[in-house]
Amino acid sequence: MIRKFISRVFSGKNNKAVDSAPAVIPVATHGITRNQLSSGSRRVCEGLQSQGYKAFVVGGAVRDLLIGQTPKDFDIATDATPEQVKQCFRRSRIIGRRFQIVHVMMGAETMEVTTFRGTLGDDAKTDEHGRVLHDNVFGTQAEDAARRDFTANALYYDPATETIIDYHHGVADIKQKTLRMIGEPKKRYREDPVRMLRAVRLAAKLGLIIDPAARTPIREMAELLENVPAARLFDEMLKLLTSGYSVRCLTQLRQEGLHHGLLPLLDVILEQPMGERFVMLALANTDDRVLKGKPISPGFLFATLLWHEVLGQWEKLKNKGELRIPALYTAMDEVLDVQAEKLAITRRIAGDIKEIWALQPRFEYRAGKRPYNLLEQPRFRAAYDFLVLRAESGEIEPELADWWTRFQKAEGEERAEMLLPEKSGDKKRRRRRKKPQSSESVPAAQA
Ligand code: ATP
Ligand code: MG
Repeated sequence: MIRKFISRVFSGKNNKAVDSAPAVIPVATHGITRNQLSSGSRRVCEGLQSQGYKAFVVGGAVRDLLIGQTPKDFDIATDATPEQVKQCFRRSRIIGRRFQIVHVMMGAETMEVTTFRGTLGDDAKTDEHGRVLHDNVFGTQAEDAARRDFTANALYYDPATETIIDYHHGVADIKQKTLRMIGEPKKRYREDPVRMLRAVRLAAKLGLIIDPAARTPIREMAELLENVPAARLFDEMLKLLTSGYSVRCLTQLRQEGLHHGLLPLLDVILEQPMGERFVMLALANTDDRVLKGKPISPGFLFATLLWHEVLGQWEKLKNKGELRIPALYTAMDEVLDVQAEKLAITRRIAGDIKEIWALQPRFEYRAGKRPYNLLEQPRFRAAYDFLVLRAESGEIEPELADWWTRFQKAEGEERAEMLLPEKSGDKKRRRRRKKPQSSESVPAAQA
């Protein structure tokens, strides 16, 4: 009780929790047993503890277990330095960026092991807006807790004792469904504006309310996000889009006035009624897959996010007199070129995206052998799912997508009967051409 009281006092305004004793919450109170952890994370903690170091499962995993969600991964915090961690595990390597962490491999699992971080000194290097550029000092566990963003994220689970070490009243906040910032929210957002996005994403994902003290400043501080490097924003956006709660996240981002400038393409798309409907449907679809544990393909996701950009560009080129299919290919390249740097889209993903787009016009041909050829395309399934979304969003006639749904299911004769009569023009032109086979080829009738 006394410990809890102390922790509550110190998690208050001044946030001088650095030297206070934390609450140590027993399993009888929090209910998380060690067998709810991944075996890898348990073994890493045991390994470090057997060498005399402190080691805890920390952050998102503890929070998710308390809320009743399945953690994505298990991060470990320790007082051992990266070199010392590395010496404890044969299959491990130090990953050096701003702050060195160690990846420890156990079976198929990779754990991120982080040494406790220390308090930022007043001399910490920042940019002109107050964003912290380097934070690579080690510290105590209490300092490490104070450096984390939200109270719900500053919980340390010790598998040996099954206790939770709670410096900032995080367990109680989770019970009260509140996402509370550690320390003074404005200061913490200035140090790292990405915390505003994390607040929205975590609240949406976990069904928590952002504490008003942390929520109110977001609107006025939103523009600080402009100074965050694009790669970091992109990582955060990808987390958001693949969280299983992307629709909720985006809805809340807009409510908080945070959606501008995050992904430049989203600004444009969400402002076109047709584009918004399409993107929201695509994201709802992605959420559904994530929550059912099905794999999602970044190619499909980006193909949907960028489709209305392609449509717009395609239209412009056709109006300038370019032929229909070459115009589509040019539009695809132009849209991808513009986004490539900002979005860090790899070549492989770009290839997937293009295939999905390039197959779209081919759904319009429902006569002769073409529908059969289309069914054989390796990316048919993704392209068909894409077509269905286009129909559901009102961009194309639902009848076309329905036809393809039925055509796939139909067999033999039944399938053949579904074919539409070939137009005479089609035949004549095709006879003149040499075999247009690959998905990249351009049937003359379309051009
Ligand atoms: P997710 O469910 O997305 O993994 P998470 O909270 O675990 O959510 P991570 O990016 O994996 O997010 O970060 C792990 C932990 O590191 C967080 O729980 C938090 O304690 C700390 N952390 C992450 N990002 C920040 C930040 N920007 N500022 C302060 N602490 C952070
Ligand atoms: Mg995590």
